[in-house]
Parts: sequence; structure tokens; C-alpha cells
Amino acid sequence: MSAQSHDVDVDVDRELVEAAAHIARTRCRGDNHTVAAAARARDGRIVTAVNAYHFTGGPCAELVVIGAAAAQGAYELDVIVAVGDRERGVVPPCGRCRQALLDYFPGMRVIVGTGDRGLRSVPVGELLPESYMWADHQLDDE
Ligand SMILES: [Zn+2]
Repeated sequence: MSAQSHDVDVDVDRELVEAAAHIARTRCRGDNHTVAAAARARDGRIVTAVNAYHFTGGPCAELVVIGAAAAQGAYELDVIVAVGDRERGVVPPCGRCRQALLDYFPGMRVIVGTGDRGLRSVPVGELLPESYMWADHQLDDE
């Protein structure tokens, strides 16, 4: 990584991207599971999951990975990335996931971008400027 030029964001967790890509290639199937997500827990573990598509609002992979991590005792996630099936590459989080990720993990970074060199790691707050905060969180700050 240190040999890369300054144009490349060395903060991108390549191992995490590869973990999500591996799950997308090997576990996504049909219309039910089309996106894989991988998250880096505070203790260094990688947790992976796939979405559970359903027309009633089945959760995206990013949301499933929050629950999967909690089931393993990993309640603090530092970085997340989603990768689409059929070699679609990194997929940015939808609006609902941006809000959920911000509320769960305000300090989280999200890997976005296209291609290999175009990937970058951005704070989740930058993906949701002027974001909504529910009353309990607002009042906690005062
Ligand atoms: Zn989503």
C-alpha cells in the first residue's frame, strides 16, 4: 500500500472489499440475494452478510450485516462496503442505509466509488449532509 501514489486513497480497506466481493460471487443467488456487505468490527473481525430482498421492504445487505455482527458480539463497526452480484463492483448505500448506519455508527467510514483505483473511504456523515436526528439523539447532545 505504501508504494501507491498519493492519488490512491490508502485508507481503503482492500481486504474488506475483497471479502464482500467474495461473498457476492459465491453466495448471492437469484433475485433474493443480490448484494453482499462486509463490515470491519472494532476488534478487527470482518463480518459479512447478503441482502434479503422482498417487496415488503426486505433489508439491504448493510442492514443485515449490522444484525449478523451483533449476533457475533460485534456491536461496534468501523468500516463497511457493499458489492453487487454479477461483478457489479462496489455499490453505494441507499438512503435508508445511510441513515441507519449514521445512527448506529456515527464514526463509521463507507467505501464507495468505482473500479479498483476509484475506491475511497468516506465518513458516513458525508454521505448524508444535513441529516435527520431523532429527538433522543438530539437531546443527548445538550
Ligand atoms: Zn440500503
